Amino acid sequence: MFGPPGAGKGTQAKNLEKKLNNFQLSTGDMLRDEINKNTEIGKKIINNMNEGKFVDDEIVNKLMKRVIFDPQKKNKLIFDGYPRAIDQAKNLDLLLAESNQKIDFIFFLNVNKDVIIKRIEKRKLLEKRSDDDLDTILRRYDAYMATTKPVLDYYSSHKNYHEIDGSLEINQITRKIEEILKV
Ligand code: AMP
Repeated sequence: MFGPPGAGKGTQAKNLEKKLNNFQLSTGDMLRDEINKNTEIGKKIINNMNEGKFVDDEIVNKLMKRVIFDPQKKNKLIFDGYPRAIDQAKNLDLLLAESNQKIDFIFFLNVNKDVIIKRIEKRKLLEKRSDDDLDTILRRYDAYMATTKPVLDYYSSHKNYHEIDGSLEINQITRKIEEILKV
């Protein structure tokens, strides 16, 4: 599930998790969890996260490796927020090949900057995330465009690559995704 911050990746991934009895892997959630538990990883990443910068590939790749090789989750993974950079995409290719899994579908929820700003300002009030203030949102959007857009280009020739208008209502996006997945 791809899209800039605030595109609704998490919302859609959570819906599919329930519907398909799969597992949503949100790197953002996993990293926030490390911070909340004040782990060694948490201490290393807190500054980058709060400033809306990416966390080091090495840390994220390590977290991913654990779940990709979890036998209970095999062939049931929904990636939300990963891969976010070309090196991460290459790492994912290797891990999937080693664990004998493949990517079935890729969804890109495309939303422009103005919609993102409005949505994240609303989310800030609800979730109180420390990386949801306006400056940080803009930094996260720019980081997304600079680093994650090339990852989409990397995947755009995949036979099941689907771009969806992420400015639609949540239910409309859900319907489109489910139609494509035939679920
Ligand atoms: P998200 O919850 O997906 O919006 O992610 C929140 C923040 O977590 C991002 O702004 C990054 O600081 C960090 N993050 C999440 N996923 C990744 C990733 N794949 N690579 C690097 N940083 C990440």
